[in-house]
Amino acid sequence: MAPMMKSFVMKGIGEVGFLDKPVPEPGPNDAIVKTTRALVCTSDVHTLRGGIGERTDLTLGHEAVGIVAKLGGGVKGFREGDRVLVGAITPDFTCENCQRGHTSQCQHTLGGWRFANVKDGVFAEYFHVNDAQANLTPIPESIPDEVAVYCADMLSTGFMGAEHAAIPLGGTVAVFAQGPVGLMATAGARLMGAGLVIAVEGIADRRELARHFGADVVLDPSEGDAVEEVLRLTGGTGVDSAIECLGAQATFEACVKATRPGGTVSVAGYFGHGDSVAIPRLAWGAGMGDKTIRTGLCPGGSVRMRRMLRLIEMGRVDPSPLTTHRFRFEEVGRALHLMETKEEGIIKPLITFGA
Ligand SMILES: [Zn+2]
Repeated sequence: MAPMMKSFVMKGIGEVGFLDKPVPEPGPNDAIVKTTRALVCTSDVHTLRGGIGERTDLTLGHEAVGIVAKLGGGVKGFREGDRVLVGAITPDFTCENCQRGHTSQCQHTLGGWRFANVKDGVFAEYFHVNDAQANLTPIPESIPDEVAVYCADMLSTGFMGAEHAAIPLGGTVAVFAQGPVGLMATAGARLMGAGLVIAVEGIADRRELARHFGADVVLDPSEGDAVEEVLRLTGGTGVDSAIECLGAQATFEACVKATRPGGTVSVAGYFGHGDSVAIPRLAWGAGMGDKTIRTGLCPGGSVRMRRMLRLIEMGRVDPSPLTTHRFRFEEVGRALHLMETKEEGIIKPLITFGA
């Protein structure tokens, strides 16, 4: 009889709980990881609220690190006991979309997003990793688990927002919303060589952190029209690049309005509600404004994860100030609740597994 483990699942839309499940077995190219640290994401809240439709007894979570517990026979270069990071997105790096370079859209739209979508996620004592050779990344000794875990999604998504924004060296950037993804987009814009980084955020603690992560100017939208202020700061032209980090109509519109002709709007937010997203016609040049709108999903794979780890290791970024709360696995339900209500000044809750 397969050994059993504790899993935190979505029983149905709006309902969560713990469930005992068998410890998964690896296929020839897969691995089983014993979870040590995980993070709860607003995407988990979207999923719980039906953002991707009905799911029954699906284990939630997609941001985790752990210890290799079992390896399929075809996996080389790793041993049981290795400390590893696993990206939130686990492509197979073989299908047509992967070969075209769109690995997050592995096999189909958003197909690289397997955890807590089409298979069990990481909020369990063990989790299964497909195509382990390409999706397991050794964690350098100098980086603790609770820091490395930020590479899985927050760094990779936030930095993607900056990478997709076509920021000219010395150029101007506005980052709308300074939650964990937005704060990493701000850090990414700085690392990409932006000359002026403007962060827009309504919550005071997050504005402080935006400064810490490299924003030159921080705007509070409750104190005046942020788009107007961005235009004033750029001599009326608008920024070269705007990064949307909330997944909301209002911030998306602001990005289009704040971007200069020929500029780029990079979307890193998750639009979890509604049937469509509207583009403000005139600010968009009635469809002729030479503005690029670029979207993407958190890049995965060990090459990407190794780069994220190197940025931490070399002191280019330290995401640990994002950890505002700590919980044991048994309390993960409370962490999810806080991520939904955004109470207690929460940014990211870190979940500890085992002893
Ligand atoms: Zn693929």
